[in-house]
Amino acid sequence: MDRRVDYLVVGQGIAGTVLSYKLIQKGFSVKVIDDGHRTASSTKAAGIVNPITGRSYVKSWRIDDLIPEAVDTYASLEKDLGGKYYHEHTIVRVLGSIYEENKWSSRLLDDAYRDYIIEDYDTSVLDPYYKDVESCAIIKGGRVDLRSLLIDFRNSLIEQEALIEGTFKSKHLRIQPRTMYYDDLEVGKIVFAEGVQSIDNSYFPDLPFQPNKGQVLIVELPNYDIKDIVKHGIFICPIEGNKYWVGSGYEREFEDDQPTKEGLTKLKDQLSNILKSTDYKIVDHISGIRPSVKGRKPLLGRSNTHRSMYLFGGLGTKGSSLAPYWAEHLIDFMEGKHDIDPEVDFNRF
Ligand SMILES: Cc1cc2nc3c(=O)[nH]c(=O)nc-3n(C[C@H](O)[C@H](O)[C@H](O)COP(=O)(O)OP(=O)(O)OC[C@H]3O[C@@H](n4cnc5c(N)ncnc54)[C@H](O)[C@@H]3O)c2cc1C
Repeated sequence: MDRRVDYLVVGQGIAGTVLSYKLIQKGFSVKVIDDGHRTASSTKAAGIVNPITGRSYVKSWRIDDLIPEAVDTYASLEKDLGGKYYHEHTIVRVLGSIYEENKWSSRLLDDAYRDYIIEDYDTSVLDPYYKDVESCAIIKGGRVDLRSLLIDFRNSLIEQEALIEGTFKSKHLRIQPRTMYYDDLEVGKIVFAEGVQSIDNSYFPDLPFQPNKGQVLIVELPNYDIKDIVKHGIFICPIEGNKYWVGSGYEREFEDDQPTKEGLTKLKDQLSNILKSTDYKIVDHISGIRPSVKGRKPLLGRSNTHRSMYLFGGLGTKGSSLAPYWAEHLIDFMEGKHDIDPEVDFNRF
């Protein structure tokens, strides 16, 4: 086994996956250390790429740049790994108030939104299944099957002998004037892509994380025939066969990352408030913690104390769309091609 690598990437969520994939493609030698997705939020996420978000129906930050890079990157991963990860999806948002209806009407007239709006959609297809649907916003979006992607990429790392299974521990790291060793592996640069675990990273102290927890049901809806993503308060998102991802709330206060009884009750209540039939079967109840950040923009950059250590995180609620573009940006920064964009520099606070 090669005992020197250009890059050691810590964490194999969507951030670490896309970053290490791009590094390998560019010809760098890479090893990835991951603890078996122990705290990964990527494996809990629906992976929705939603270009128009919030109650005001505004374009997501930098979405015109993010989507092309995401589509190219996931297509390239599909070619190399043989899976299908990026699915184009219509997102149907049930408008919940006059305010939302007005906002949406103004978007329909705005050229900047044209690429993300679908106009010829017959919303009566929802009638057999949903209560209280009067008007809807129909958005051109997508979904990344993060779970399959992470598993397939992990297997390819194993094949390339590029995965170290375990938890990165700083006591295993020796920092010398010109190089670093992780155990007996000589390492050029280290990139931390630990998701919410970066809160405890002593090389990047005091990061402004505002983590929030989301709980999710995986349900079978036997008599439901909508293949679009529907948001009617909560998302109902097709994943495979007649299985749907249903979620998810934003909990600021929580004890741990585990699903709770209260979370289950709330999701069941939300489903019975919107669905006409409660003929569904819960196959799983899962939860995860989003690595959200004050100001809701990613955290990238070089450690102020250790000049060969970098951070790639703070992807918040939008890892699927943010990871490809910002991984490319970080690599160019690490290779000296440009400065870090001040909007994502973790030193901006
Ligand atoms: C319920 C829910 C729904 C969501 N829905 C969406 C959605 O629809 N669309 C979307 O784009 N985003 C969504 N998100 C957000 C998305 O999950 C995150 O933006 C994204 O997954 C963050 O990826 P990451 O790689 O930074 O972190 P993570 O996925 O958390 O990955 C970090 C990895 O590093 C490992 N790790 C951490 N520390 C160490 C260490 N010291 N040593 C070794 N390994 C370590 C972890 O176990 C994990 O495998 C959702 C999140 C949740 C919780």
